[in-house]
Amino acid sequence: MTISDADQQAGSPEPSLTTQIVMLGTGTPRPDPDRSGPATVIVVNGMPYLIDFGPGVIRRAVAAYNKGVLAIGPAAVNLRTVFVTHLHADHTAGYPDLLLTPWILGRKDPVSVYGPKGLSDMTQYVLNAWKVDIDSRLNGIDRLPASGCAVHTHEIEAGIFYRDGNIKVTAFPVRHAGLENAFGFRVETPHKTIVFSGDTAPTQSLLDNSHGCDVLIHEAYSQATYDKVAPKWQAYRRENHTSSTELAELANRVRPELLILTHRVNIGAAMAMPDPEDVLLDEVRRLYKGNVVTGHDLDIF
Ligand SMILES: [Zn+2]
Ligand SMILES: [Zn+2]
Repeated sequence: MTISDADQQAGSPEPSLTTQIVMLGTGTPRPDPDRSGPATVIVVNGMPYLIDFGPGVIRRAVAAYNKGVLAIGPAAVNLRTVFVTHLHADHTAGYPDLLLTPWILGRKDPVSVYGPKGLSDMTQYVLNAWKVDIDSRLNGIDRLPASGCAVHTHEIEAGIFYRDGNIKVTAFPVRHAGLENAFGFRVETPHKTIVFSGDTAPTQSLLDNSHGCDVLIHEAYSQATYDKVAPKWQAYRRENHTSSTELAELANRVRPELLILTHRVNIGAAMAMPDPEDVLLDEVRRLYKGNVVTGHDLDIF
């Protein structure tokens, strides 16, 4: 399913009438240099929509642009419509990067960000924290336009919260870390329905929102890594995340055309074991016979 570099380079720079899923970051809070914090771009008819902005988001976005995803724009200046599943740091630590870096490199228009309660405060704190930089770029030698670092925030509830000519996005509540506001997203485009689990333990709401879904992008941990961690962390995983077995059961009910595993928990190097990625995939495939892959940073589907 992954579009090869050659296909990308052969593609026209004109916006094509398709939906592309570009994995920018497939990691977790663990600072794995090969896996940036959670972030995905959906490109619909040449328009990019960003979901989550984990650490490394803009560098990965530029890598995707360099790989041929021209919709992102140079220096990711076109990432201006943004949805966030929940406010955990691994999904949001790229926020100042998202707001400031493309502005410094040429973005002239505001960013619109949709996410859970607390997003407006987070935004204001980020802008306040970087006040010295922002003031200097507005009033110093750069004279950057204020519009380029303006942010319109929208705090969302469960239900349809965004719709335009390309895309309709529905938030559904998930079960994660006792957060009052953690969501999964159902994204409908003219070409595909894509469901994002966000971070969650198994929940009925995901099933309820996954009917007719073409692509399910779901977090997962493997039973083999689960067996290696302390009972406290086993309980943590059970309450907040989804195991390979649980995900296989769920996928058997949803039957997506493609299941993409992401936010794969990896354990410390001290716990020597076979590549946890292969182990996880094997565990899912033992119980689920549909099309399933592990997502990597910069994969395109
Ligand atoms: Zn996470
Ligand atoms: Zn989380």
